[in-house]
Amino acid sequence: MSQTLAIIKPDAVGSGKAGKILAHLEDAGFTVRAMKMVRLTKAQAGAFYEVHRERPFYGELVEFMTSGPVIPIVLEADNAVARLRETIGATDPAEAAEGTVRKLYAESKGRNAIHASDSDENARAEIAFFFSRSELLGLD
Ligand code: UDP
Ligand code: MG
Repeated sequence: MSQTLAIIKPDAVGSGKAGKILAHLEDAGFTVRAMKMVRLTKAQAGAFYEVHRERPFYGELVEFMTSGPVIPIVLEADNAVARLRETIGATDPAEAAEGTVRKLYAESKGRNAIHASDSDENARAEIAFFFSRSELLGLD
């Protein structure tokens, strides 16, 4: 078993799709290991997306991710990182496969409903960004 981080983004929380997306993830075979709802500050969102700092969409991305609450979720499954990326679909919903979370719920390439870690190393770092060791240990 391995873990990955999903974040239900402000567009999906705001439009009342969080429950449907969580059910979709559970139906896809992931076990929820930790979850919370938080409103990110600009500093937090900026740090989370640090790798994209030089990209043209960075400012807009930070604005969007701070525009309302988000729901970070630690998910567990065999091969969790790759399986979650497959379950959520391509970054741009116009390119996402049928039946994926982004095809079903995303509005646009920027407002695309959900985040997923892209490697085991980043998953560990992103889980630690949102959840303390004691929060994670308490759920073992
Ligand atoms: N994004 C955007 N425009 C782009 C590419 C990305 O607004 O051209 C946003 C989008 O919300 C995306 C996030 O930046 O989910 C992170 O981009 P990444 O390439 O890591 O996509 P992801 O891993 O989320 O599929
Ligand atoms: Mg990414």
